[in-house]
Amino acid sequence: PQPVRLRPAVEEAERVVRLSKRARSMAFDNCVPDGIQVLGDYQRLVQVFVNLFTNAIDACDAQGRITIAARRHRGRIRIQVLDDGPGIPAPIRDKILEPFFTTKAPGQGTGLGLPLVYNILREHGGDLRLQPRRGRQRGTEVVITLPPGEPME
Ligand code: ADP
Ligand code: MG
Repeated sequence: PQPVRLRPAVEEAERVVRLSKRARSMAFDNCVPDGIQVLGDYQRLVQVFVNLFTNAIDACDAQGRITIAARRHRGRIRIQVLDDGPGIPAPIRDKILEPFFTTKAPGQGTGLGLPLVYNILREHGGDLRLQPRRGRQRGTEVVITLPPGEPME
């Protein structure tokens, strides 16, 4: 594991998912501050964001907005990926981390995205949580925690 600057990793994942036509009209708000670093493997972390952004794109309509924020919190880096799609229905919330669980049509989803994301984060000593967005905002909030790439005071 090495210190990885988070903002460029998020930018690279955005470039990857923007190759899909549907994603081009959507808004990506990369609000990650320049100085934030996590401890890990750059390519694996890009993979995490590619998978989370792909899910957000699939959930949102063409005018959708995806927001990525990050801050230092209790000795960790806390990252949020927010979308304004319909959210994850309560009855399936505890199934989405199971391998092969998907609500997508055959050929559209494998159900392996979130299990992969979860495994990568666990390997990093990190964690993952998906929940409805707070307040009046509809959509999903994905909360990730990772170890910091630099000592924190
Ligand atoms: P896949 O994308 O191939 O279906 P995932 O493991 O990535 O597999 O996601 C599993 C399921 O979780 C999806 O099929 C979808 O029902 C739900 N899901 C994941 N992310 C979101 C999201 N941002 N908004 C709504 N539903 C989501
Ligand atoms: Mg997926």
